[in-house]
Amino acid sequence: MKILVITELRQGKWNNASFETLAAAQQIAADTASTIGAAVIGKNVSAFGDELSTKNVGEVLQIEHDLLEAYTPDAYCVALAQVISSAKPDLVLFPHTYQVRDFAPKLAASLGKGMIGDCIGYRHESGKLVFVRQMFQGKTAADVTFQGNAPWFASFQSGAFRADLVAAHPDGKAPINKVAIDLKSEQIRTKPLDLFKEAKSAVDLTQAPIIVSIGRGIKAPENIPQAEALAKAIGGEIAASRPICDEGWLPMERQIGSSGQTVAPKLYLALGISGAIQHVVGMKGARTIVAINKDANAPIFEIADYGVVADIFEIMPALTEALEKSKSS
Ligand SMILES: Cc1cc2nc3c(=O)[nH]c(=O)nc-3n(C[C@H](O)[C@H](O)[C@H](O)COP(=O)(O)OP(=O)(O)OC[C@H]3O[C@@H](n4cnc5c(N)ncnc54)[C@H](O)[C@@H]3O)c2cc1C
Repeated sequence: MKILVITELRQGKWNNASFETLAAAQQIAADTASTIGAAVIGKNVSAFGDELSTKNVGEVLQIEHDLLEAYTPDAYCVALAQVISSAKPDLVLFPHTYQVRDFAPKLAASLGKGMIGDCIGYRHESGKLVFVRQMFQGKTAADVTFQGNAPWFASFQSGAFRADLVAAHPDGKAPINKVAIDLKSEQIRTKPLDLFKEAKSAVDLTQAPIIVSIGRGIKAPENIPQAEALAKAIGGEIAASRPICDEGWLPMERQIGSSGQTVAPKLYLALGISGAIQHVVGMKGARTIVAINKDANAPIFEIADYGVVADIFEIMPALTEALEKSKSS
């Protein structure tokens, strides 16, 4: 089988979810004896193509065009349809980013195909690939397979695979093949403006390695600075469960869960969060979960790697102080 991974750049930088999807592709390739092509798209992207070629892939496809400098769904679909028709992959994999949600179903439909979006995993069973995706706000998971002939399209949820497990190329570098694209401005019906940012301080929690998250246990907005001091001391971003954001105590962009962000940091510190399913679906991909809750039966402990049954108002200042001491010593 031939796998094509479509990577994503955002404002001249990698979207790290690209490497999570590459890790997924490498696992699928190992299970199914497949080859991998990794595509990078944009204008002047040769440095990114070079970096991609150091990963364990069969080839890098460098797709460059002036009209691909800024993202538009029309240009991406025209360009990728041409890449797919020349490279002839069986399976096309994407990270499930906002951009991919925008163009990938249209790309698949334009080729008469469906797409399995937002997968959290896969299995290789009886020679067939089965993709797993969550349903009903993460309460259950569905097995989904493709019908009909290749190419098949699927995207992986942020945090479903670990970007740091991407294997390096065994011989140093994979070949880089430039793909010429026939693209005209008349084919693009939208005019990209500046990227929307809700606030100057807008933070991308999906890329934060450490998250300190507060729930209703924080009790009042006056107590949030204690959690912020801990986040600062540990070098993390502050986040919250939905009630905290609903109250306006923290901005909506900091909400974790089914109606907020899905994150997969190295460390997720849950302070006074009960562990409702709608919260857990947004953070259970974290590498290490530490939960502090005074209720020993709180469901958050079911998914925590380390659990502390305690009052957060005792732990937060003590932990902050210990972290600061360890930095100064
Ligand atoms: C359609 C829908 C979508 C939703 N989307 C989201 C979402 O995206 N994100 C989200 O988070 N929720 C979401 N929810 C809400 C979710 O169901 C829960 O109500 C919410 O996650 C609970 O937040 P919490 O854990 O902060 O509060 P609670 O459930 O009230 O838990 C507070 C916890 O703090 C502990 N505690 C209290 N005081 C202390 C203390 N001093 N020290 C230590 N522990 C203490 C308590 O023991 C308790 O376990 C959604 C709900 C619906 C219906």
